[in-house]
Amino acid sequence: MDYLVPCLVFSWLFYLWDTYLQWRQRRVFHSVSHVPPELNSLLDESTFDKSRVYQLDKSSYGLVHDLFKQVELMVILAVGGIPLLWSLSGWITASLLGLGPEYELSQSMVFVELLLLYSTLTGLPWSIYSTFFLEDRHGFNKQTPVFFIKDQTKSLVLQLLIVPPIVLGLLYTIQLGGQAFFIYSWLFLAAITFLFVTVYQEFIAPLFDKFSPLPEGALHTSILSLTSSLSFPLKKIQVVEGSKRSAHSNAYLYGFWWNKVIVIFDTLLEPGLLGRKEGEGEEEKEEPPDKEGQKVKGCSEEEVMAVLAHELGHWSLSHTLKLLAVSQLNLLLSLSMFAFFIEQQDVYSSFGFHDSRPTIIGIILVFQLIFMPYNEAVQFALVQVVRRFEYQADGYARQLGRGAALRSALTKLSKDNLSFPVADSLYSAFHHTHPTFLERIKRLPKLD
Ligand SMILES: [Zn+2]
Repeated sequence: MDYLVPCLVFSWLFYLWDTYLQWRQRRVFHSVSHVPPELNSLLDESTFDKSRVYQLDKSSYGLVHDLFKQVELMVILAVGGIPLLWSLSGWITASLLGLGPEYELSQSMVFVELLLLYSTLTGLPWSIYSTFFLEDRHGFNKQTPVFFIKDQTKSLVLQLLIVPPIVLGLLYTIQLGGQAFFIYSWLFLAAITFLFVTVYQEFIAPLFDKFSPLPEGALHTSILSLTSSLSFPLKKIQVVEGSKRSAHSNAYLYGFWWNKVIVIFDTLLEPGLLGRKEGEGEEEKEEPPDKEGQKVKGCSEEEVMAVLAHELGHWSLSHTLKLLAVSQLNLLLSLSMFAFFIEQQDVYSSFGFHDSRPTIIGIILVFQLIFMPYNEAVQFALVQVVRRFEYQADGYARQLGRGAALRSALTKLSKDNLSFPVADSLYSAFHHTHPTFLERIKRLPKLD
C-alpha cells in the first residue's frame, strides 16, 4: 500500500482546517471592538485595544509560519529530502569514520545530528523575528542580541549532546527487543522521562535562566503557611529572572512528590514585593504610572498567593500525575502501533527508501507522518482535559477562600500579558488549554 498520498491528503486537510480556525479567531479580534460588559469594571479600553493589536499581530505571524511549515513539508516530500539527508549522513559516516552502510546505528546518529542542525537553522529566522520584532513591538521582549545568541547556542549544543544517546538507546531496544520490543522501548523512554524530570530543574534550567531563593519576608511567610496547611512537600521556593527574557509572567510547581519546588517569575511580582517585610501593609494608593505612562505591572502578595493556590490545586487534584500517566499510556500505545508498521517495506518505499529499512527513518515516518490523524486526535482530547483541569484548579483556589484575589490576579495577568479576553468557540476548543479570561471570570463564582 502507498502511504504517501494519504499522508499528503491528511496534512492538507489539517492545514486547511487550522487556517479556517485561525480565520474564525481573527474575525473575533476584529468584531469584538469594545470591552465585553462583564469585564467593564476590570478592563480599560486602551489595554483591550492593545491586546487586540498584539493578538492580531501574533496570529498573522502564525499564519505565515504555518504556511511556511506546510510548504516546507511538501518540498521535503517532493524532492525526497529524507532519503537525501540519509544519504548525506551515510557519506559523512563513510568519509569521516570510514564506516560502511552496514553501520546503521552510526549513520543514524549522524542523521539525528544533521536533523537537529537543520531544524535549528531553519527555525532561527522565525525566532529572531518573533523575539526582536513581534514581541518587541508590543513591549514584551527583554532579550539583548547577545543573550539571544548565547541562549540559542546553549540550546543547540545541549540538544546535540543529549538527543543522539537517547535515540541510540531507543534503537538498541528496538533491535534487541524482538517481538515485544515496544515494551522495552517504552520502559526505556519512561526511565528517560523520569531522569529528565529529576535533573531538569537542578541542572538544565539554570543554564538558561538565573534562579535564586525567594528572600525571607512577607511573601515567603505567606507561602510557607499556605503550603504547610495543605501538607504540600515543599523543598524550596525560587524566583526566576524571567525579566531578562520577556515581560510575560508566570509561576509553576516542579518536581516529584517528595521534592517540590515552587518557581515564581520575577515578572509576576509587583515592584517592591520581594523586599516587603512581614506585617508591612500594601499601601492603598493609585498605582503610579511608570516612565512609559503605563500602569506598573505585576501582582500583589494576595494575588500571587491566589495564583499559587491555583497551582497547588493542580497538585492536590493530581492533575500533573494524571497527565503524566496519560502521556505514558499514549507512548505505549503509539509504540505498539509502530510495531505493526516497522517491518513493512511499503512504509519506507512510499517515502523513497526502496531497498532499505533504517529504523530511525521508520520512527520519523510513522510517528510524524503516518500517525498524523492519531496525533491530532490525541491533541484535541488533551486540550479538553487540560481545560477542565484549569477550571478545577480555579475552584480549588476559591475553596481556599482566594476567589476574589484570583479574580484580580487573573485581571492583572490578562492585562500584563495582553491576552484577548474573548475567543471563537471552535478555535478555543482546538487550541486553548487555558480558558479565556472572560470564561474564567464568568465561571469563578460558580465553581464549587
Ligand atoms: Zn493552571
